[in-house]
Amino acid sequence: MTRQRLIIAALLITAIGVFFVSGAHQWFTLETFKAYQSDFQAAFNQHPWQVAGIFFAVYVGMSALSLPGATLLTLLGGALFGLGWGLLIISFASTIGATLAFLLSRFLFRQPIEKRFPNQFEVVNRGVERDGAFYLFMLRLVPVFPFFMINLVMGLTRIKTVTFYGVSQLAMLPGTAVFVNAGGQLGELESLGGIVSPTLLASFALLAVFPWIARRIVLLVQRRKAYQGFIRPTHFDYDIVVIGGGSAGLVTSYIGSAVKAKVALVEKHKMGGDCLNTGCVPSKALIRAARAAHEIRTAPRFGVTASEPQVDFAKVMGHVHQAITDIEPHDSVERYSGLGVTVYQDHATLTSPWEIKVGEKTLTARHIVLATGARPRVPSLPGIEHAPILTSENLWSLTELPKRLVVLGGGSIGCELSQSFARLGSHVTLVEGTAQLLGREDTEVGEHVERALSQEGVTVMKSANALEVCQHGQEHQLVVEHNGERLTVEFDYLLVSVGRQANVEGLGLEALGITTTQAGTLELNKRLQTRLPNIWACGDLAGPFQLTHAAAHQAWHAAVNALFGELKSFAVDYRFMPAVTYVQPEVARVGLNEKEATAKGVAFEVTRYAMSESDRAIAEGATEGFIKVLTVPGKDKILGATIVAENAGEWLGEFTIAMKHGLGLNKLLGTIHPYPTLGEAAKATAGVWKNAHKPERILRLLARYFRWRRGNEK
Ligand SMILES: Cc1cc2nc3c(=O)[nH]c(=O)nc-3n(C[C@H](O)[C@H](O)[C@H](O)COP(=O)(O)OP(=O)(O)OC[C@H]3O[C@@H](n4cnc5c(N)ncnc54)[C@H](O)[C@@H]3O)c2cc1C
Repeated sequence: MTRQRLIIAALLITAIGVFFVSGAHQWFTLETFKAYQSDFQAAFNQHPWQVAGIFFAVYVGMSALSLPGATLLTLLGGALFGLGWGLLIISFASTIGATLAFLLSRFLFRQPIEKRFPNQFEVVNRGVERDGAFYLFMLRLVPVFPFFMINLVMGLTRIKTVTFYGVSQLAMLPGTAVFVNAGGQLGELESLGGIVSPTLLASFALLAVFPWIARRIVLLVQRRKAYQGFIRPTHFDYDIVVIGGGSAGLVTSYIGSAVKAKVALVEKHKMGGDCLNTGCVPSKALIRAARAAHEIRTAPRFGVTASEPQVDFAKVMGHVHQAITDIEPHDSVERYSGLGVTVYQDHATLTSPWEIKVGEKTLTARHIVLATGARPRVPSLPGIEHAPILTSENLWSLTELPKRLVVLGGGSIGCELSQSFARLGSHVTLVEGTAQLLGREDTEVGEHVERALSQEGVTVMKSANALEVCQHGQEHQLVVEHNGERLTVEFDYLLVSVGRQANVEGLGLEALGITTTQAGTLELNKRLQTRLPNIWACGDLAGPFQLTHAAAHQAWHAAVNALFGELKSFAVDYRFMPAVTYVQPEVARVGLNEKEATAKGVAFEVTRYAMSESDRAIAEGATEGFIKVLTVPGKDKILGATIVAENAGEWLGEFTIAMKHGLGLNKLLGTIHPYPTLGEAAKATAGVWKNAHKPERILRLLARYFRWRRGNEK
């Protein structure tokens, strides 16, 4: 590719060189054109098609090579062919020429420049993706922007060629018409400057903003259509009514009240939602208890002997519920009331785009933020309705440890709970339908987790298709197709963790025409707005991440966009979303892994560091795991980091900050880390990268320099 680029560049430079060295450029002056106008005209009268053809080819060639003279050629075209034909010929010739110049610029310069300035171009390309056609239209319409410059600059962006062609042809028409028309009086023209008067330029500028005005009108019409049939109240009880008091709804309410908006929060069940009551908090408390049992069991490797741990499951659950109770005040009605939020504890249903029925009351709000979360999805296996099923919702009311637990689904929740219950003493079988645990992670990560679980006694069945649930007397069995065989796995409880489905029902959304995606989450734009511009959503209901910190990140956007969106609104940026699976060793990732980078066609380089190299990990007996960092080839810019290690979630933040603020591995390497910590491994990984990219030539020169200083070389 580089060779082809060099050849094309050489040809291009030669062609431009020949144009100037041969003196051809001297032909392209107003005086020459005026002097030879009658000769051109005579030739055209004799051979109209040939002259038109040659004119077309010369126009395309000059525009493609970005040679000066397009304006003069346009005048000549007007003089020779008249307004109608002149406009037709020149419109196509100039657009084809411009597109060729655009493609040449793209071929020669885009890749190297994008590589050199990746951050800047990412921003430009996002803008181009959104409004590229509008920008181009404006630039083309106002003929103060040089024609050739627009072609070259647009070639560096990711605008589609068809868009470039279509918009260019349309937007250049008025300007071309003016010049072609002026060409009719070529003989009388004294200078090019007189053709475009300030008034004409102002009219073009007005035409240029027309697309924006048109877009606003379209939005206004769409808005009116969306709200058709509903009567907007003349005034409102609240600036925002938030539905759902989980992570997303609480953060939305907090931000709304912090900026002094009048906010109501409606929660039908428990404040704190899933995270506090049935998700993150109880699961992490259970994981901690299970880890205590594991530590006792594995203590002899440090020379500390203890007997087999005695697990009092009721007390374990006591610890779990105590954790919830201790955190509850942070999410309580009292706290939020104190912040100025009016909290309603009831079911909410939307009766219009501005009205919410809460029990017997109807609240009105300028904006509504939906944050109703998600619930565990239970697969429709034959016989499942009669089986003792556990989900993340009812799991926490168990009082006895299940002896035989089958966990269906090997995602984050399934893996975390499998390991914990196995550590607490259950016999756990983990059944996963695909060929890998933690399917979104790289294969080696899934394999690592599988090894860790298997070593702790979990029976892992991958590529196992659950077929049905059977009961024989008191015995419950899951029937599974595994490696072509039909197997049965007996269980006391079947813990289902196959994904979560958004809570969209019972909210009155159908009547408002608010639709869902294939994943079952709400259909939203990048600003988290539904088709009704005053109704927003965040959290698990919005997807695509079903994580507490993703919910909080979205909640900020929903609140700020709702309250201030008319002035400035923000699209949600998910590029630096960290995620942790709390198995031991933990799996923590931010940004791209190899699987995603490959799927997206992003070029990357991998740097690895084994935890067995870390002094602290050795001292801790926690040498399992690794760090894998993806960088832009030849650069230290981080595309993503995966850590499989003890407490990985605690030190993933270093990579998240680095990525978010554009700090490369060189900067991590240049930062002092306390010794000995596990987090030091981040710096060590940067060291591995640096070692692979050391300036060999300079080092060779240095070696010679030192030899010379020692007097060993002349
Ligand atoms: C076992 C488990 C472990 C998890 N671990 C983690 C973890 O370690 N880290 C992490 O980041 N995430 C974790 N999650 C995910 C996390 O819990 C969710 O992403 C987060 O709780 C989503 O918050 P939310 O506000 O969108 O929804 P929710 O917390 O579900 O809140 C929605 C609220 O809306 C209420 N509601 C619904 N409909 C109505 C209505 N019509 N009227 C009034 N109220 C209504 C519900 O009662 C609920 O309280 C875990 C989840 C589970 C199940």
